[in-house]
Amino acid sequence: MESIQNNQNLASLDYLTGLVNRRGIYEYYASLDKKSLIHAMFIDIDNFKRVNDIYGHSIGDKLLICISQLISENTRSFAARMGGDEYVVLFDASCSEESIIDISERMLTGMQTLDFRKDILSLVSLSIGIVMNQSVSQQLDDILAKCDAAMYQAKYDGKNRYTIYKEFEKTIEINRNIELEMEDALANGEFEVYFQPKVNMITTDLYGAEALSRWIHPADGIRPPDTYIPLFEKNGFISKLDMYIYEEVCRIKSTWSGNAYAHIPVSVNMSRLHLYDRQFPDKLITIANKYNISPTELEIEITESIFIKDSSEMICMVNRLRAQGFLVSIDDFGSGFSALNLLKDLPVDTIKLDKEFLHESANISRGKKVIRNVISMCRDLKMNVVTEGIETKEQIDFITSCGCPIAQGFYYAPPLPPDGFAKFAQEYSKNSHQSHSFSLNGSLLSSDGLLKGEFHGKGFAFQQGIFKDSLSLYFPGGSYEENTVLIPESTLFNDSYTISMWIKPKVLHSWSCAAYIKLVFLQLFHRPGKVCLTAAFVIPGM
Ligand code: C2E
Ligand code: CA
Ligand code: CA
Repeated sequence: MESIQNNQNLASLDYLTGLVNRRGIYEYYASLDKKSLIHAMFIDIDNFKRVNDIYGHSIGDKLLICISQLISENTRSFAARMGGDEYVVLFDASCSEESIIDISERMLTGMQTLDFRKDILSLVSLSIGIVMNQSVSQQLDDILAKCDAAMYQAKYDGKNRYTIYKEFEKTIEINRNIELEMEDALANGEFEVYFQPKVNMITTDLYGAEALSRWIHPADGIRPPDTYIPLFEKNGFISKLDMYIYEEVCRIKSTWSGNAYAHIPVSVNMSRLHLYDRQFPDKLITIANKYNISPTELEIEITESIFIKDSSEMICMVNRLRAQGFLVSIDDFGSGFSALNLLKDLPVDTIKLDKEFLHESANISRGKKVIRNVISMCRDLKMNVVTEGIETKEQIDFITSCGCPIAQGFYYAPPLPPDGFAKFAQEYSKNSHQSHSFSLNGSLLSSDGLLKGEFHGKGFAFQQGIFKDSLSLYFPGGSYEENTVLIPESTLFNDSYTISMWIKPKVLHSWSCAAYIKLVFLQLFHRPGKVCLTAAFVIPGM
């Protein structure tokens, strides 16, 4: 094959690398014996665009020349640069599969030892797609389409690798069928929303739910998301599906009205494609309004990996969603390497601890320490933590002991169809703990009259308050923790407290007034304790 390459005329040569260009490869292919077989390899440089963007085109060109040499030296066959950072190599069918694999592996490792700037080499790698034993009687484009598809699969599987076409021919076939079916499937209502409960592990109350899509295929039955989501992400259909699922969630949620679980937050997964759509938050609001659902009951889950790729767009989108009142969570937290930056930069409501991260870490002592500290860090940053993939009692004990009471996992329930979820919700919201408020207006009873606080100390009284028709509590003051009001233990099932007060100090002491709350326990959910209000407070600046 080399002799043919040497005979190429100038118009068929790539000016930059001296390899054959796109035109040259078609000319060469036309000259081959139609009865013969060839193998083809498609090579793409991973992250090449970033090199151009960061270091400029002249460095980019130098890198292309260097990689072209690596390709010709290792393949010793007919190599062409198709344009940009894409190369195709054709091999004679006498070349064995082992030697093609060997060549691919040598090129992959060779990338790391190129004579080039190390900072640049650390960015780039090769994704290689291979197709074997193709008859030259077919169009070159058909062969290229196969090795191109194999190359995309290599990229999809994480780059810096090779993929052989025949190994996933079946997947392509399935994907092609799915692509043909998806628009109709959406129109025919074949996509359904399943709800997976999020549960408070301490009280076993229902806390919320995650909406997950299911494709109920008329012939195949239920298709799980991993058979279609990755493909829809590639072909863009995911945006339509996400919006459909979101609207279904709003519609179904509106049918819950009157039930104890009517207002639980429901989360939906949103693909990265929405990130570039400036109208996205407005579109969500319009749909929520249509069904009379408050955005504060809807949560947008965005997976951690998106933040790595598009962090600035992402931060902007998170802020806009929250400004509209939506809850936002980072999904699969701990599955990538961006964790700390995310915590630093993103003002989200909730972190969802990745299930693989939990499964891999919860049995080893270092892993446990990491989980414990991640949870504690999130709490310190006033973010909720939800642990995904809870399957065993041991995991519940461990995670609750780390201070995370909310979980989602097969231990409680798998994703359920709407009626199954309604049954679950009915059952699990029975012992739901309502929030209690204590107005301390003439009594220590909670507003619903169910709970009663108690005085601890002397000199408390109810006196004419700031408003004519209200009595307010007179705190006698005193030394540290001397005179306190204790609120019953059962209020501790709430994880948040709001305290507002009118203060009318009779005597101004530098130590009196303002608020001081002490939760008389160490671990919120494990030790009995009381919430205690005291009067020994300090007004700043007095
Ligand atoms: P995800 O968002 O991380 O959803 C949680 C996945 O974990 C679900 O898989 C759920 O069934 C599974 N799971 C729940 N509890 C357990 C457990 O205890 N153990 C184990 N091993 N797994 C558990 P599912 O439903 O197959 O969904 C897979 C992924 O597909 C989701 O992962 C989500 O990223 C994506 N997805 C699903 N529906 C949609 C959608 O409508 N739009 C978008 N953009 N993505 C979706
Ligand atoms: Ca999710
Ligand atoms: Ca997840």
